[in-house]
Amino acid sequence: MAGTTAPNRTPEIKYTQIFINNEFVNSVSGKTFPTLNPCTEEKIADIQEGDKEDIQKAIDAAKEAFKLGSPWRRLDASKRGALLDKLADLIMRDAEYLSSLETLDNGKPYTNSYPTVVASASSIKYFAGWADKIQGKTIPIDGDYFCYTRHEPVGVCGQIIPWNFPILLMMWKLAPAIATGNVVIIKPAEQTPLTALYVAALVKEAGFPPGVINVVPGYGHTAGAALSGSMDVDKIAFTGSTEVGHLIMKAAAESNLKRPTLELGGKSPNVIFADADMDAAVMWAHEGVMYNSGQVCSAASRTFVQEDIYDTFVQKSVQIAKARSVGDPFDAATKNGPQIDDEQLKRVMELIESGKKEGAKLECGGERLGDKGYFVTPTVFSGVQDDMRIAKEEIFGPVQQIIKFKTMDEVIERANKTQYGLGAAIFTKDIDKAFTFSQAVKAGTVWVNCYNIISYMAPFGGFKMSGLGRELGEYGLQQYTEVKNVVVKIPQKNS
Ligand code: ADP
Ligand code: MG
Repeated sequence: MAGTTAPNRTPEIKYTQIFINNEFVNSVSGKTFPTLNPCTEEKIADIQEGDKEDIQKAIDAAKEAFKLGSPWRRLDASKRGALLDKLADLIMRDAEYLSSLETLDNGKPYTNSYPTVVASASSIKYFAGWADKIQGKTIPIDGDYFCYTRHEPVGVCGQIIPWNFPILLMMWKLAPAIATGNVVIIKPAEQTPLTALYVAALVKEAGFPPGVINVVPGYGHTAGAALSGSMDVDKIAFTGSTEVGHLIMKAAAESNLKRPTLELGGKSPNVIFADADMDAAVMWAHEGVMYNSGQVCSAASRTFVQEDIYDTFVQKSVQIAKARSVGDPFDAATKNGPQIDDEQLKRVMELIESGKKEGAKLECGGERLGDKGYFVTPTVFSGVQDDMRIAKEEIFGPVQQIIKFKTMDEVIERANKTQYGLGAAIFTKDIDKAFTFSQAVKAGTVWVNCYNIISYMAPFGGFKMSGLGRELGEYGLQQYTEVKNVVVKIPQKNS
């Protein structure tokens, strides 16, 4: 891939501690947890394990940094942008190292982690540009009043990050929060803490005041729960499973009604009409579900194909799935690394078994590769029916379900028959079909003749149980500001 540089198979592990107030510290309990290499199942490093007390220390630091009159609150908006710009530059300076670290900890191919590190830096630059453009309105209300709005930072923001795109999703949360003047406590996923901790060191190097950005690694049910249930946290942003999304919203409701942003699961329909460019559709559908070993919330995990082209489509999809290389993520030829951990591997294998049992036809793959590491061969099922588990449940693995349909009305109804609503796509050369489907499908993003084109410049999020709120782009800023309305009496002459 253009711009991809040389990976380092053995990047030095420089930071394993909790980052609070611009210092690396040990956990209060003294406990650590291991982060594993998903290719070998061996330990990479022991990480200081954050829990409730550590989260409280981070909250206290963040609250102090957010106090009225603090250096952070007094900083010019343009300078906030400049600090973010600096952070982006440092990430680019160390992009090879960060990409190597990401590949080691997560198992994704280096040819994929390098572009996500570049995208992380670009996302920060984009939000850095917004920092001094957060504007309110003046409103001509009735009477002798001057009425204006201010878009103020919400305050202390908890941000819980998943393991599938560790550094990128951290930046998608951090950058808009910081651009709008908030302070953050980030909890990386327990499977992938390493790039988050290295970025913490860059935060200090960039010159952010202490307490503005804190990173507390730890488990979800302990550190994550402490963050989402705290009375002192003003906002919680979470990306992960719908199951945990329920827990986060409940914790927010039962504590201080902190504002939730939830980016959750999906079972996204990708609809291929007979008039589509067949080879392009086959390729997009394949990449749409296989990319990142299928560990993408918006994965195209229901491929609906119109009956006239169904058999050919299946045949071509099987051909490219069989050719997809699985293995060493540091090898430039590798397309898929391992699944993230044993739990995910078991879940993927269990769902593949259910597909076979429920009568779908396993066209290829369906096996664990080797006995060390969590590798799964790219899998294609044909003859999939809507009520099978593989057509209803999020698999989060390299497993393609190819489903037959006849008409537009029918496919719209079937596409929408799910609790999820994250992504959807249609492949057709007919503009009427494209508009009809785009209007009717319940999804946060609709792609026409492409798939998974996700930009930090445009909103991303879900309808229904795929989430709450939108991240990224100008829309994403709304999640990190409170609107304050100020009404001032205007003195009148002779009054
Ligand atoms: P997945 O099921 O895809 O592994 P999760 O939703 O479990 O994803 O995890 C995503 C993030 O949510 C991780 O950082 C994890 O530690 C965190 N998490 C898991 N359970 C909870 C919880 N009960 N409260 C808060 N955060 C949690
Ligand atoms: Mg790991």
